[in-house]
Amino acid sequence: MKTVRHELVVLGGGPAGYVAAIRAAQLGFDTACIDENPRFGGTCVRVGCIPSKALLESSHLYEEAKHRFSNHGLKIQGLDLDLAAMMDRKDKIVDTLTGGIDMLFKKKNVKPYFGRGKLRDVNSIIIEGDEPVVVEADRVLLCTGSVPASLPGVEEDGDRIGNSTTALSYPTVPERLVVIGGGYIGMELGSVWNRLGSETIVLEATSRIFPGIDAELANLAHRVFKKQGFKIHTETFVQSARVEGDKCIVKIKDGDTITCDRVLLATGRRPATDGIGLEAIGLETDRYGFIPVNEDFETSVENVFSTGDCIGGAMLAHKAMEEAIVCVERMAGMKTHLNYDVIPAIVYTHPEIASVGKMEDELKEAGVEYRKGVCPFGANGRARTLGEPEGRVKILADAKTDRVLGVHIIGARAGDMIAEAAAAMEYGASSEDIARTCHAHPTLAEAMHEAALDVDKRAIHTV
Ligand code: FAD
Repeated sequence: MKTVRHELVVLGGGPAGYVAAIRAAQLGFDTACIDENPRFGGTCVRVGCIPSKALLESSHLYEEAKHRFSNHGLKIQGLDLDLAAMMDRKDKIVDTLTGGIDMLFKKKNVKPYFGRGKLRDVNSIIIEGDEPVVVEADRVLLCTGSVPASLPGVEEDGDRIGNSTTALSYPTVPERLVVIGGGYIGMELGSVWNRLGSETIVLEATSRIFPGIDAELANLAHRVFKKQGFKIHTETFVQSARVEGDKCIVKIKDGDTITCDRVLLATGRRPATDGIGLEAIGLETDRYGFIPVNEDFETSVENVFSTGDCIGGAMLAHKAMEEAIVCVERMAGMKTHLNYDVIPAIVYTHPEIASVGKMEDELKEAGVEYRKGVCPFGANGRARTLGEPEGRVKILADAKTDRVLGVHIIGARAGDMIAEAAAAMEYGASSEDIARTCHAHPTLAEAMHEAALDVDKRAIHTV
């Protein structure tokens, strides 16, 4: 059996793994990265963030052309959907980005290995296959990420009843689509197919869609999605779903049966920690399968580290990347720090929804006194010129210190706007700091400025 040796071996080449590998190589570690998929990039690049945003963009343009170009005096005749071309564009973007990681690995001296890796002992991983390879290393970093969760009673066939990966490649537009789960993955992919013409029914077990998002924004979003044609049923628990002929039958607990063409199961993700050999090194997961780590991202086993989706917390690519950097920088003796209070989260629907920091309900529950500033997009010149007057920025600041505690935005390009809030919060800014910062005109960012002024009840452009 072939044996190779490195200083650091990273298992998993998603945002956590490939970023860790690159940063480690920059810091001088002889680094290897293993992925069972021949294309690095993980869930994010292959079947997550990137392909979903590619389809969201294409389907948004389709809808704009169909319904809103005429507002600009643009008349379109014979608009046609070429779904295969849309899918092809998405696939090419994914290929370009995965190819980009190969190039980065080459330039930055990360040694790639392909195949399913399994811990053999504390210092080695075996890559299984016809010609197994043992990769030995002083340190091991586990970044095996997550996979879609299943739901009891829902019989996935990977085609008509499938998960987010299936929904990124439907060959035709389903006439009727049932989305189980009203979180961001369900609503984003539901939006794609809703825009392309599917009757889209969302079944959400809890009392509202986007359970993890500021309630005020989630309620606003609910209303907007309904206007867009979504049929949203909250407090609706799916008992079973199965394929029957070329239809799917979805049974709701104590309720109706829905017949549809496809079912998208989007009820969350679980850590991919089965079968990676944790037992070989005596490493136990928590009851959900996540790998427990300390503040250096070291597990209970010395020199075995872990970051990203497989350790829990927000399952977001940028959180995984930041953890990866902090982890390897600490291995190199640096005192890097990750501020979990300032991890932005974005839903790329239309309108977009973006948040950072505390939600209003959280502040109320914790008894924190806060002041609130709001700016509706309707009062923003740029939003008007874009034809995007629906939306708002909400800033929550500590009543005594004025420190910004949370920023929540719904509206066009909210995902880009939240970066300012995250940077401000990372520097410990007050709402006054944002209010005293000159914002270019006309920009959507001015809505942030106005909301900051409104914290002190001195907004200029709103009443
Ligand atoms: P992963 O990306 O899951 O990577 C793990 C890698 O490990 C995989 O490549 C896998 O093949 C490999 N692996 C696992 N086990 C082994 C093994 N035994 N041997 C070898 N290789 C192995 N996040 C955002 O921040 N923004 C978004 O807009 C966003 N959109 C999303 C949309 C969808 C549809 C989905 C599904 C997810 C989305 N996410 C988004 C979440 C994001 O993709 C994940 O948080 C991120 O990919 C986690 O990175 P990771 O490196 O921890 O794990």
